[in-house]
Amino acid sequence: MKFQTFNDRNKMYVHLNENTECALKAMPKLKIGCGKYCGLPFDCLMTDVISGCLSQKRVCYGNCTAAQFWKEQGYDFGKRVLNNFDKEFFISCIKKLPPEQKWLRQGWISDCSFTEKSWNLTAEIASILNDYQIRLLIITKIHSLPSEKVMHNLSENKAEIRVSISALDTEEQNQKRLNFLNDYRKIGGLAVPYLMSCKYNNKILSDNQEFLVDYVIKNDFVAGEHPLRFDKQNKIIDELEKDGFWHPKFPNQYWFGRIFEDIPNFILPAPTHLKENYFLPTCFLSDLSTKSIIGLDGNLPTFKDLQQNPQQQSRGINKHAAYVIQKNQ
Ligand code: SF4
Repeated sequence: MKFQTFNDRNKMYVHLNENTECALKAMPKLKIGCGKYCGLPFDCLMTDVISGCLSQKRVCYGNCTAAQFWKEQGYDFGKRVLNNFDKEFFISCIKKLPPEQKWLRQGWISDCSFTEKSWNLTAEIASILNDYQIRLLIITKIHSLPSEKVMHNLSENKAEIRVSISALDTEEQNQKRLNFLNDYRKIGGLAVPYLMSCKYNNKILSDNQEFLVDYVIKNDFVAGEHPLRFDKQNKIIDELEKDGFWHPKFPNQYWFGRIFEDIPNFILPAPTHLKENYFLPTCFLSDLSTKSIIGLDGNLPTFKDLQQNPQQQSRGINKHAAYVIQKNQ
């Protein structure tokens, strides 16, 4: 089976008024810190190296709560800036983290893969964190590839790189991401496919998803699954199965929960369901017969869970949406 691009990127998604965006300010430049000490809502977060991500018109699958949040504060999410990095300040934040916090998320409301500078800074941060036995958990769509030097640095400093893949992305995007996952794993990096899943009733899309799931299985990856949510105005809903649910936290959003819980590769939950001591010893599923992942804390609900209780809430669901504007110290 071959992956096929379903449609030109985001053509079928909701298009927002461009003129409104022109009136919005460029994203604020923040000082990079980590944890609650620097004003973030959780100790497992660090400031993204970039403020902002994609413009409202181009956000992932037409639905990005972060872009919406910033728009409501008067900022254009697509006018990205590289944040300020002051090593001394960053280390002072590390020292204020609870000692049991052993990983930090990079890629909460942005993506570190936009430029060479943002990749270089991410690698520098991974190296500092490693001195404190803290690992980076990077979530990215590989907008641009890091240099070999950056890849080696991230691998040596044990950064887990979760790369989002989905049936809705183009063939070119997914190919680039799968190639990156293989290359990063080959040099010893913790490379994790992160499937943005959904129940499609469109044959191209369901075949695409099957292709990606088969790829993960055949290549022995440890992977994660994250169910997509779509705003009710989004035309893509016409291409989905009709037995979905309205999300308990975002009642105007349609979703299905996780659907691949029976496939052992999809063992990793969303970062909202990882404990402070989370540790991924390998990214090969076959290694898990002798090694174990520690620090997993449940997962997002499955489709079957939602069928039993459509209003199912979980701590992770609430935790996910807690955006704040970090104070610029
Ligand atoms: S990568 Fe994340 S923050 Fe950026 S547009 Fe997509 S959903 Fe939003």
